[in-house]
Amino acid sequence: MKKSAAHPRIDKSKSPDFAALVDNLRKSYTAPPETGLYIVPTPIGNAEDITLRALKTLDSVDIIACEDTRHTGNLLSRYGINTRRLTYHDHSGARARRKLLDLLVGGASVALVSDAGTPLISDPGYKLVFEALEENVPVVPLPGPSAPTTALMFSGLPPDKYFFGGFLPSGSANRRRALNELTTLSVTIILLESPRKLGPTLGDLHTALGDRETALARELTKLHEHIERAGLAQLAERYQSNSENPRGEFVIVIGPPTAGQLESLQRTQLEEVSEPLRQALEHMNTKSAVQYIASSTGLSKRVLYKRALELKQIKE
Ligand code: SAM
Repeated sequence: MKKSAAHPRIDKSKSPDFAALVDNLRKSYTAPPETGLYIVPTPIGNAEDITLRALKTLDSVDIIACEDTRHTGNLLSRYGINTRRLTYHDHSGARARRKLLDLLVGGASVALVSDAGTPLISDPGYKLVFEALEENVPVVPLPGPSAPTTALMFSGLPPDKYFFGGFLPSGSANRRRALNELTTLSVTIILLESPRKLGPTLGDLHTALGDRETALARELTKLHEHIERAGLAQLAERYQSNSENPRGEFVIVIGPPTAGQLESLQRTQLEEVSEPLRQALEHMNTKSAVQYIASSTGLSKRVLYKRALELKQIKE
């Protein structure tokens, strides 16, 4: 198993004075920002990973909408920023969202941040952005740090086409469906996982996808940043064993299947699904039966349709 070189040690006594930096930056803006919802990424570990534009926006907007006012307060105090903060989660409901939208429609400038990384990417914000756009509120996205793309850059796996699947669902039916959907993809797959569930998830991924080339990115941009590149089989075995006690934050990056792997996966899945599909064809027309099996298994409609025609021919 190949591991990355150790991350260079950070000497905190030599880290920049962020508050002085923001103080200096303040001299460059006199007018408040225009009304709008600013989506502002924040560091995923290394406090230096924040853009000048992000600092300027956080410092000068009327309100910062954040997941946790205390967590974001700690981040802001490092930069000497005192902007008013409000709690916002997509699930905090329509009332909290309405309050922010009313402020925006009334001409306020609002920055949306999450605890770390890019808002909306497996974090709150989608509903707020959707409704802001519906109400013609200007939305301004700022580019910045995000764990999935940082892991992809580090993975050594093909970055030309990729699928970001966030966290796999935990309920067994939804999880099986999500895993089946992954098997239909022939691109690099990026997933997030907590340390507690890493072993079982790697095991499920190995069962569903076979032994694919995988990179496990841990503690990105932090002191113990590293990457392990190995087959899914080896990683699943290692992290499912009792001796391994994973700590920190992880991103799983799985390389695309080889042509042979893809073909054998499809063959196995079709064998498994043939009987339920045959039964569905007894009660429904081909289109509905394919639709029904595709929605309950996540398998490709094109492949199921081909199998349905074969089954009908056998019957005739
Ligand atoms: N919106 C965030 C982003 O853009 O990075 C992702 C938020 S999601 C709730 C948090 C998950 O991202 C963690 O459980 C972990 O899987 C991954 N993550 C966040 N920071 C990380 C880091 N420094 N190193 C590795 N993974 C990280």
